[in-house]
Amino acid sequence: MRFLQSDRLVELLEKMGVLTAEQRQFITSEAQRQRQKLARKAGRQRDRNYPDMVDIIASLNLTVAGSRRRIDDELIMRAVAKAKKLPFRKLDPLELDMGVATGTIARNFAIIHTILPLRLDNGLLEIAIYNPDSRSALSDIERTSQVKTTPVLATRSDIERIIEEFFGFQKSISAAEDQFSAVDSSVALDIGNLERYVKIGKGNELSSSDQHIKQAVNHLFHYALDQRASDIHIEPKRDVCLVRFRIDGLLHTIYSLPKAVHAALVSRLKFLARLDIAEKRRPQDGRIKIGTDGKDGRDVEIRLSTVPVSFGEKAVMRLLDSGTMFQDLGSLGFSSRDFGVYEGFMRAPHGIVLVTGPTGSGKSTTLYSTLKEISTPDKNIITVEDPVEMVHEEFNQIAVQSAIDVTFSTILRNILRQDPDIIMIGEIRDQETAAHAVQAAMTGHLVFSTLHTNDAVSSVVRLRDLGLPSFMISTTLIGCMAQRLVKTICPDCARKYTIESDELARMGFPVEPGTTVELTRGKGCRECRNTGYKGRCGVFEVLPVSAKVRTMISGGEASDAIKQVAIREGMTTLREDAWSKVKQGLTTWQEALRVTSE
Ligand SMILES: [Zn+2]
Repeated sequence: MRFLQSDRLVELLEKMGVLTAEQRQFITSEAQRQRQKLARKAGRQRDRNYPDMVDIIASLNLTVAGSRRRIDDELIMRAVAKAKKLPFRKLDPLELDMGVATGTIARNFAIIHTILPLRLDNGLLEIAIYNPDSRSALSDIERTSQVKTTPVLATRSDIERIIEEFFGFQKSISAAEDQFSAVDSSVALDIGNLERYVKIGKGNELSSSDQHIKQAVNHLFHYALDQRASDIHIEPKRDVCLVRFRIDGLLHTIYSLPKAVHAALVSRLKFLARLDIAEKRRPQDGRIKIGTDGKDGRDVEIRLSTVPVSFGEKAVMRLLDSGTMFQDLGSLGFSSRDFGVYEGFMRAPHGIVLVTGPTGSGKSTTLYSTLKEISTPDKNIITVEDPVEMVHEEFNQIAVQSAIDVTFSTILRNILRQDPDIIMIGEIRDQETAAHAVQAAMTGHLVFSTLHTNDAVSSVVRLRDLGLPSFMISTTLIGCMAQRLVKTICPDCARKYTIESDELARMGFPVEPGTTVELTRGKGCRECRNTGYKGRCGVFEVLPVSAKVRTMISGGEASDAIKQVAIREGMTTLREDAWSKVKQGLTTWQEALRVTSE
């Protein structure tokens, strides 16, 4: 009997201290029933060795005695690896070479043996195996591919997931490649020849023979969501088509595909985004909405942009998760003081609220989340955006279309006739837009908008620069808020460390010199792909327009003077708010410095 299916595994785990004697007895008594239960649930998709003792133990939801650490497949396989003197590997598909994985063995062989070639290094093929008894499969591979192999142990779930991902995608792509190469054998080198394909697809549903490309695109979306990618790049090179994902700010090359499928892939995306498929020389942009099913089903909005580059059309997709754009305001990272002040802005009957910061500072998320929070059936919320970032059915969203002269100003000129209660203006860029915003506020509307300024107070100056009289600013402005996003420390590898306060003081943090400070940083682990960071959080500077501040604005006083008063009245600056997040162990001083250095 195979080791992973036998009671020897349970005995080993007890000997290694992973299981207690009681847990071992419990497992032995439950094994038969649990095995039937799992087998019934799995249906026919699993291989004949499923479920084994690892699956059974992992499904019982036990925890390590005296801790809350769940006894999952990874914990079990780490113990097995130790006992069998094999290295254990948690598989990250981004580190694997799809070409090696799918080029060395057939999908069926991979599934039957739960085995996955990882990479070829100096003639040595590293192979992930699940069953430590898989030696015979390894020697089969050595015989047929004439390379030496070295095994690493991995969990069944990791191996099966990647087999599915890699081989499924590979199959769609190969089929598509065959199809498009068959149209014209020179197609791989000359994208112009794909005109014929384009004509078939233009204007109506692609014919069913394009099934492979559809599947490949579906795979791509699923995979990108699974990997928490924020952007997908599809890049034509001379001989290949590169697919890259941006994850946590960094680009990773995911696939290098045959060039023959590039144009078809881009055409499919353009079709989904309702772009002109035949137009390949002009940049285009559009959007695709996809829904995922399952219990964590969510809507994802994809903004597609295509641009012709040297070797064809490059497509870039930004993935906007509705769960990210519409958040609970309380989870954005406000301190309790700032949250209270900002809630006050939201409750104001009329006036202007400005959110400022550079591109990518999270302004859209804040504004969308705010509108969602205050949206009720008795309110008419109208947004004017360039472009509409995320569609929400509770709002009436109007897109700026400069090409046909539908600008912020022309929309705003007519918007009051639409009887709005709350207006969100994507950005105040010019005098006319600023004047419309003020006018709307003066006639009893609550207006939210954004500006490109560094700090909260500077938005007053910016409005003056746009030609608004000081008294108009002072009578309509309720508050301004500057914001930034900092990367948050990965909770899985966060570690405390101490640092000389002098070093921090030199960088401008409010610390007492001559002491040491205990801070947190991420050591780097699999979960965060060794970056030490996972997720992001807002840093804020919230300026309420108090009576004193109002007088100063209408008197035309300089922003520095206003800022000093605001600070005396309790405003925390961006730097201070960032520093308090460093002290709480949410982020690092490097991040705080990065986003608050102007
Ligand atoms: Zn980590």
